[in-house]
Amino acid sequence: TTAPQTRKFEAEVAQVLHLVTHSLYSHKEIFLRELISNASDACDKLRFEALANPALTEGDAELRIDISFDAEARTLTLRDNGIGMSQDEVIENIGTIARSGTRKFLESLSGDARKDTQLIGQFGVGFYSAFIVADKVTLITRRAGNAPGEGVRWESDGSGEYTLEAIEAPRGSSVILHLKQDETEFLSAWKLRDLISKYSDHIAFPIRLPVQKDGKSTDEFETVNHAAALWTRPKSELKDEDYQGFYKSLSHDFNDAASWTHNRVEGSQSYTLLLYLPAKPPLDAMFNGRDERKGLKLYIRRVFIMDASEQLLPAYLRFMRGVVDSDDLPLNVSREILQDNRLVAQIRAACTKRSLDLLEKLANDDKEKFQAFIDNFGNVLKEGIAEDTANRERIAKLLRFASTASEGQARTVSLDDYIGRMTVGQEAIYYISADGYGAAKGSPQIEALRARNVEVLLMFDRIDEWMLGYLHEYAGKKLRNVAKGDLELDKLGDGGDKQAREEAEKAAEPVLAKLKELLSERVRDVRVSQRLTDSPSCLVLDEYDMASHMQRLMREAGH
Ligand code: ADP
Ligand code: MG
Repeated sequence: TTAPQTRKFEAEVAQVLHLVTHSLYSHKEIFLRELISNASDACDKLRFEALANPALTEGDAELRIDISFDAEARTLTLRDNGIGMSQDEVIENIGTIARSGTRKFLESLSGDARKDTQLIGQFGVGFYSAFIVADKVTLITRRAGNAPGEGVRWESDGSGEYTLEAIEAPRGSSVILHLKQDETEFLSAWKLRDLISKYSDHIAFPIRLPVQKDGKSTDEFETVNHAAALWTRPKSELKDEDYQGFYKSLSHDFNDAASWTHNRVEGSQSYTLLLYLPAKPPLDAMFNGRDERKGLKLYIRRVFIMDASEQLLPAYLRFMRGVVDSDDLPLNVSREILQDNRLVAQIRAACTKRSLDLLEKLANDDKEKFQAFIDNFGNVLKEGIAEDTANRERIAKLLRFASTASEGQARTVSLDDYIGRMTVGQEAIYYISADGYGAAKGSPQIEALRARNVEVLLMFDRIDEWMLGYLHEYAGKKLRNVAKGDLELDKLGDGGDKQAREEAEKAAEPVLAKLKELLSERVRDVRVSQRLTDSPSCLVLDEYDMASHMQRLMREAGH
């Protein structure tokens, strides 16, 4: 063996470590959840690699996580016989911040401790959470397939440096926490059992604690969790806490999920879906654009294969989180195969349908939670109008808008609400689109409609104009932009006083002629308008002209 070498953490690691240990103290027991989750991931990875190379299990294929403690030495040890790490992997995974989002994450911290805790929680602090309760952490690990002498001993007090040493080690990883002076509570089988059932019961591998006798640990271990993948258990056996606990470890979210749907499908192919709707936007939604989506894990016969959000969910449902476990896909499936596979297409359609079912149910059963969904993800859902023709009507039914009949700019009005309030003779759904709420609401073009008690939907989100290009009709009613074409106001409400209007038009003729002459270069026509009640004039587009808001966007884009 060679002498231990000392290395420095990347600057960002030191920063994250400092933040984690200081801002997460009030949630300190999450370290156990994070380390168990890493051990479980390591077991998943070994099981997956062993599919192609069974020799990797070295005759020890019963994957498990053992947790033990030594009250006198004040150490807590988590040992897994999963994939382990080579020296390079330790340096890469533990000594640097490989995850691309980290820098942006650090930049997004506000300095407000409460908010930052939320952010860090959602970010998933992972391995470094050990330093919340430990003043020194030792990691002993060996990569499956490497020779027994190729183990690695890593150690750090979390202050900026770590040591590395080559040693003999069994396959897998042991994380030894040297607990801080005050953290005595974790040196108790009772406390550990309690935390495991609270946060890690759903872990699919056995988590074991030493059997206690006369208040002392024996050499024998007993399993303390269910050790079955949560989604494989019957719904009748699962409590809300079980689902929420699984959601939190799946998503690294501190908050409860808003809702979920759990289904077993058996037929021409069999699979299980467990899909969650988060209550708040997960942090990765801020980092990941549409190209790098995450959050839906594909399992095949209980073996974790890969994150397959892109293959299993359309982009407009990218806020959903969850698990799909297929009985029929081949274990050696690749991303390319997933992209173009009949079974996958069926599962994707089922995920879409179940997600829309969930949203419909939420809209009917829990107005408050549904409104939070609209506020957080409503604009993402709007993409579905363009993207998913087959479900366009269902998606449109879920959308909410501000309108001249609702309070402020909150999007609360559904198209069905609108139709329910349509006035005598009204055939279309009217909307105005503008750059902002104020511009929409104050637009002179809606005056005549307001005067006739006709509601107008106010569209002012960036995506609206694009969405409206695909949403021409809902429930048999045309959607009409009040800034375009002839509104046929005669038919609406009481129709107004036709004779008085004709007289007014006649009286205005000389003025119109003069205006047309003056503006001939700049407008196509000048007309007496029924649109206006208070404003003297407004610009109107022909029915098939691009909406003015869109014209402005095009100009900005250099067209
Ligand atoms: P994450 O789990 O989100 O990737 P962590 O900070 O928890 O982030 O872990 C960082 C990386 O360290 C993991 O991705 C994994 O590669 C490695 N790692 C951590 N714990 C273990 C373990 N028990 N066995 C093998 N690898 C591990
Ligand atoms: Mg982790």
